[in-house]
Amino acid sequence: MYFNSTRNKKLMYTLTECIKLGLAEDGGLFIPEYFPKIDYNNFDINISYVEFSKNVLKEYFKNDPLNNYLHEICKNSFNFIIPFNEVNNGTFILDLFQGPTLSFKDFGARFLAQCFEHISTEKRFTIMVATSGDTGSAVASAFYKKNNIDVIILYPEGKISQKQEHQITCWDSNIYSFAVNGTFDDCQKMVKEAFQNDSWQNSKLLCTANSINIGRLLPQVIYYAYFSFKYFKKYDEMPGFIIPTGNMGNATAAYWAKEMGFPIREIVLSTNANNVILEYIETGEFSPRKSLLTLANAMDVGNPSNFERLKILFDDHLLFKNNISAYSITDAQIRETIADVFKNDQKLICPHTATAFCTRKLLNSLPWIVVATAHPCKFDEVIESIIPIKNEYPKQLLEMLYKKCRHIKVEAKIEKLAEKFNNFQNNNKFTIYL
Ligand SMILES: *Cc1c(COP(=O)(O)O)cnc(C)c1O
Repeated sequence: MYFNSTRNKKLMYTLTECIKLGLAEDGGLFIPEYFPKIDYNNFDINISYVEFSKNVLKEYFKNDPLNNYLHEICKNSFNFIIPFNEVNNGTFILDLFQGPTLSFKDFGARFLAQCFEHISTEKRFTIMVATSGDTGSAVASAFYKKNNIDVIILYPEGKISQKQEHQITCWDSNIYSFAVNGTFDDCQKMVKEAFQNDSWQNSKLLCTANSINIGRLLPQVIYYAYFSFKYFKKYDEMPGFIIPTGNMGNATAAYWAKEMGFPIREIVLSTNANNVILEYIETGEFSPRKSLLTLANAMDVGNPSNFERLKILFDDHLLFKNNISAYSITDAQIRETIADVFKNDQKLICPHTATAFCTRKLLNSLPWIVVATAHPCKFDEVIESIIPIKNEYPKQLLEMLYKKCRHIKVEAKIEKLAEKFNNFQNNNKFTIYL
């Protein structure tokens, strides 16, 4: 299997090339040249998640050197539980946040780190990643102390929760965290600029761990495939998924699972007040803009990069509209939903997951799987301002809370970042601000 650029069907890349490059040479995103159709009827209902993963991914890995490691990659990436439960009649919840940093970003980040470990290189890799809150910690945890790899994390200062910041900055060794004076979109822009900048490109083997990297999307296809399969086998009915959406990576993965033939009835996106997708569906105009700050901060994205991948799948406006629906949820609705779900279902949910639960109320009575993207304890300031309760911290977080933190502040300019990063590497000392 080869992969193409969203902007040019003729450019062909192997999986390893896609993972190393992040973006195609023409600035497009990588997409598989086709979606292998998988006959899930052949799978045993009790198939393990790791075994299932290998079956779903094998075609994408075919003819690539990483193919030899597929079993090991899956086994080492997916080594935490994925609870799936019915909340009430017809509403199910898929908890994707039981990994080491308590958000679904652990799936993609761990898988990508496993892939990088098996890619041979002459130069040290520098992984650069912009984070709206959860990617940073997932990538730090997944790449910590990996040989031959440095990680630069850019997060928008003051715009993420305290727990998120702690999880991003409680590392040493090969992990460098920068608090950027700007928004997530500024951070994302800096990553793009570094990629286009010759002096960065020449001095380092730059790679990205953002969801533009296809090595993050492929592992996310699996949970949609697996749980739609399990659901269908059990209830003989196809479920729909409601997905909290920001940069649209997780949602793209769900559409890819559907394209591969898995029994997904429909997919609905829930966003916070950043609603460029909803606007595109309604008007046919895609107008990226500065992100607005909301309670669901990991979805504060005004220019979702994976839109380009969905646009290729549904290439005219009508087709897009017929396949993708979206709901934009306000902060007031998020608060109300967190309180309601706690009262009615005795469940604590994070602000991102709340957008999906709120959307669920606006839909029909068919079966819906709400995708829970982060553990509520990461947002305890928000939650404790709504419900008089003390969040309990799982052991993954408690362990991190004991660690010392370090980060460097930087203006949202690539030259400043280069200066600070190089200084640090040369002096081998890190200014501690926290
Ligand atoms: C990243 C994130 C999202 C949004 O996912 P995308 O793939 O960017 O659409 C939603 N919820 C949480 C908790 C996240 O960390």
